[in-house]
Amino acid sequence: MVLNFIAMKIHGWGKYPYQEACIHHASNHSELRKVIQQGNCIARGLGRSYGDSALSANVISTQQLRYFLDFNPKTGLLICESGVSLADIIDAFLPRGFFLAVTPGTKFVTIGGAIASDVHGKNHHHVGCFSEFVENIELLLPNGEIVNCNRQQNQELFHATCGGMGLTGIILAATIKLIPITSSTIQQRTIKSANLNATLAAFHEHKEATYSVAWLDCTAKGKHLGRSLLMLGEHADDNNLVRSTPRNLNVPFNMPSIMLNRYSIRAFNHFYYQRIKQDEVHDRVNLDKFFYPLDSISQWNNLYGRKGFTQYQFVIPLEDAEMALQKILGKIADYGNGSFLSVLKLFGKANSNYLSFPQEGFTFALDFKMEPTLFHFLEQLDRLVQDYNGRVYLAKDVRMPADFFHATYNKVEQFQKIRASIGATDKLSSLQSTRLGI
Ligand SMILES: Cc1cc2nc3c(=O)[nH]c(=O)nc-3n(C[C@H](O)[C@H](O)[C@H](O)COP(=O)(O)OP(=O)(O)OC[C@H]3O[C@@H](n4cnc5c(N)ncnc54)[C@H](O)[C@@H]3O)c2cc1C
Repeated sequence: MVLNFIAMKIHGWGKYPYQEACIHHASNHSELRKVIQQGNCIARGLGRSYGDSALSANVISTQQLRYFLDFNPKTGLLICESGVSLADIIDAFLPRGFFLAVTPGTKFVTIGGAIASDVHGKNHHHVGCFSEFVENIELLLPNGEIVNCNRQQNQELFHATCGGMGLTGIILAATIKLIPITSSTIQQRTIKSANLNATLAAFHEHKEATYSVAWLDCTAKGKHLGRSLLMLGEHADDNNLVRSTPRNLNVPFNMPSIMLNRYSIRAFNHFYYQRIKQDEVHDRVNLDKFFYPLDSISQWNNLYGRKGFTQYQFVIPLEDAEMALQKILGKIADYGNGSFLSVLKLFGKANSNYLSFPQEGFTFALDFKMEPTLFHFLEQLDRLVQDYNGRVYLAKDVRMPADFFHATYNKVEQFQKIRASIGATDKLSSLQSTRLGI
């Protein structure tokens, strides 16, 4: 059989690194089985992971797996193919009064990608990760068998696949639970905090809020270090499910990276913090603006220039979060080339998936443009993260050292055993899994 593929150079959202790959489409199962047998193979959704987790010599694109298969409005259970995006689901089901129970900060993510990274949203402290709302996964194993895995059937495989970064098989379809809503808007409260201590106290004080996320000024130092705007959200209940069309800007080509320097970053952060004058502001915003502010700028990843960028996202357990964040934020402010948007969220308890990222504590994420000193600097941050029993998120990673990964993810060996038992070790791999020795 002749395999159909397109050879092209691809990259993750951070545009670093580029990889020459054969792109195969996942619609033909018998061809897929042959592709997997060749090895060096990984699934890819919309390529919104920042680093090298969806890069390999053979890439299986799920972009043709775009069908909704079944929906039960009584239970909110949706069965769909794995290449369906969160945007597709919102477009089809919001008008019928349903929304995603967990959503990341972009809707341009596939169901397969959301499960494989076990993504989290602004409500992790209440409801946990995306996998909490996954009832079943239809998985194509490396040996060509198609199995169902869920909390009753092939349980270990289910826990390995949720958060397993595509390393257990190709997710073909999934059953997910949507939640009922009665409005396309969110009641938002914005609370201004003058420093890190006040920011963390505000999170704790408002932990009953359904959604919470803080934008943090990563350039502030001294008594202003950790100053922030905490956004809290509740679904409105005005029985209006009409969605206003979000306005779209575009960054069609790479911006000169010189435009992003310590002065422009400091000026933006200062302005963004000062735009809120009162201690607290109440307003109502549409759902896209609250959950997906960056989606209104297509290809915003071009802002960081030709060399690309990475996002560093870590979590620190609650007990030491303030001390660790104080040190890490201090280092980032000194480094100077942090990002426009730095985001702090509160995580609830960890789940039992082998490689899921969240653990109870605070998670902080910020972008850095690629430059020669960056990886050395991030290794200094790694050391602090490890000292405080934290870890770095695989969906954002492009450079974490293998020993740091193995020291901070404590179920890797169990994950590797499951991979070996289904013959995935030498068949499914990404640049990331090879680098990390998973
Ligand atoms: C602007 C922005 C905001 C974000 N905000 C958040 C956030 O708030 N929370 C959060 O958790 N993440 C967030 N992310 C990360 C993003 O949600 C994840 O990287 C997600 O996995 C991307 O999905 P994708 O479909 O683009 O998958 P890809 O990037 O293509 O792939 C990601 C991983 O999933 C695997 N995969 C994809 N499809 C399948 C499949 N069918 N079967 C098996 N494995 C598969 C790939 O092999 C790879 O390991 C954000 C990303 C961006 C760009």
